[in-house]
Amino acid sequence: MIQEKKSLDIVVPVYNESENLKPLLHEITLKLADVFNPLTVILVDDGSNDDTPVNIKNIAKEYKKISIKYFRFTRNYGKEIAVKCGIDQSESEFCSIMDGDLQHPPESLIEAHKKITGINANIIYISPRKRITHFHQKLGAFGYKKILNTFSKHKVYLTDFTFMDKKSVDLIKQFNESDFYTRGILSIVGLISGEIFYTVQERKHGKTKFSFAKLINLAIDGVISVSTKPLRIAIYAGIFVSIASIFFGLSLLFEKLILGQPIPGFATLGFGMFFLGGIQLLFLGLIGEYVGKTFIQAKKRPLYTIDYQFSN
Ligand code: UDP
Ligand code: MG
Repeated sequence: MIQEKKSLDIVVPVYNESENLKPLLHEITLKLADVFNPLTVILVDDGSNDDTPVNIKNIAKEYKKISIKYFRFTRNYGKEIAVKCGIDQSESEFCSIMDGDLQHPPESLIEAHKKITGINANIIYISPRKRITHFHQKLGAFGYKKILNTFSKHKVYLTDFTFMDKKSVDLIKQFNESDFYTRGILSIVGLISGEIFYTVQERKHGKTKFSFAKLINLAIDGVISVSTKPLRIAIYAGIFVSIASIFFGLSLLFEKLILGQPIPGFATLGFGMFFLGGIQLLFLGLIGEYVGKTFIQAKKRPLYTIDYQFSN
């Protein structure tokens, strides 16, 4: 008996990827159109300032075997929000999140589909076998996985390339937080997961859209989105510093009263000042982060604003 073909939506966030659109749609059609049906590519244009809007209008007509849905943001909201918008639009039996630069090989989705049905999971994380990325990205990934997983209650997979079922999509749709962080949300939902691997391809055209600063910001957002533990650390640090300073004071008293030694004044004072000042600044900043997020969330602004949309 011929197995019935499953419907699939592929969510692709794109920011200045005009040159990659054609190769991407070509690859997807070539590798997946015979496996999934209907096959829909949900392109979320994260406010590109290249010729993506014009280009996609022309290209979309050429593809008859797949359905293309294009959503254009009014400005650049960042990849995470673009992914959320794509997921919000997904209605098919399966949904995949994929980068628009062809670093994620579409054929991996066939393996992912086999695995998700095979082990009866809700989501398959498609992790990179080896990262062919820039040095600063390696540096960013180094330790970050550890940090994120220390703070998070649930295992966080460090990949944006995923394949999930409708149930996962419907659950994720309910999350409307302003600092939507895909990897964190996927871990929080508590889905049954599996993992397969892919070999990272070279970027087809253009260069990475993530600068060092953008990566650092993403890293901080990631930790804050999955956990409030950093606030707890502030309390521990406070307790530790208070106890340490009591001991320090006692030892000074001991030196002065019992041993009769004069206490060197400015050195100890300076040490205390800088130490406490530093800790206070650090945690003020940290608390500010959470307050800031709460402030933004309290306004209940829309996560993104769509300029216009069309389908082929
Ligand atoms: N992207 C996006 N908005 C941004 C930055 C990136 O939608 O502000 C998209 C980008 O077009 C690509 C994907 O996110 O499809 C991954 O970005 P990139 O390839 O630059 O990241 P890297 O692979 O270098 O980590
Ligand atoms: Mg890339």
